Amino acid sequence: MNDSRALIRAACAVASVAMMAMAAGCSSVSQQQEVQIGQQTAAQVNAQLPMLRDAQVDSYVNSLGRSIASRTSRADLDWQFAVVNTDVINAFALPGGFIYVNRGVLARASNESELAGVLAHEIEHVVRRHSVKQMEQAQQANVGVGLVCILTRVCENQAAQAAIQVGGSAYFAKNSREDEVQADEGGFQNVIRAGINPRGMLTFFQKLLAEEGSGGSGGANAWFADHPGTQDRIADIQRMLDATPAAQLSSLRTDSPQFQQMKRRLAQLPAAPPPRQ
Ligand SMILES: [Zn+2]
Repeated sequence: MNDSRALIRAACAVASVAMMAMAAGCSSVSQQQEVQIGQQTAAQVNAQLPMLRDAQVDSYVNSLGRSIASRTSRADLDWQFAVVNTDVINAFALPGGFIYVNRGVLARASNESELAGVLAHEIEHVVRRHSVKQMEQAQQANVGVGLVCILTRVCENQAAQAAIQVGGSAYFAKNSREDEVQADEGGFQNVIRAGINPRGMLTFFQKLLAEEGSGGSGGANAWFADHPGTQDRIADIQRMLDATPAAQLSSLRTDSPQFQQMKRRLAQLPAAPPPRQ
């Protein structure tokens, strides 16, 4: 219950920043405002979710994430990557360049290419300002429900509870299928620009789909709830791979010693706490 209140407080903090932006008569959210909203939300997320906070793992994830983000059109953002200490497979992005990846993704990824695909997808949500656009649209429509409902799902008690249980997977707005396709397409290119083989996007999604189909431990359920249309997206990624020259793909790296070092470190750390009930 404390968690519920904390989540609502976090949402209020975000809303107050966004409301200030509106009160200033802005018809659109500036980059400065976007970063401010992101910073405030990130501070709350960091305080409320079980963060892994292992220097070695954080350093690797930041280095990989920044190598991808620095080759996008929003290289000027101060990109921050953090690991949530839960086995639930998920990742999410806050406005302004704050990317969160759950430990479950690191544990399930077999090579750098698979992790890069997940990070690049979340990076593209920020590059395309998907959550900012949701805020702007609500503002234009003069929607009275407030930004809290757009930025988080605290309006729906059950969803808020679910967000807490899975360690923040549902913290942020649910992306539309269109946003997901855009994030995949841009993410695919982001991975290539970083010199990494985008095939990992395909193999990681296939792995999650197989897990879901087998009715296994359910670690991937949150992923499917937050990232709709996984099957169609696998087909799209396959098409993009088919359209990429084989010589180009073979020139890109699939793994790195640093990734395997991170995996070994992860295996040494105490197990993640079970998702809160
Ligand atoms: Zn997404």
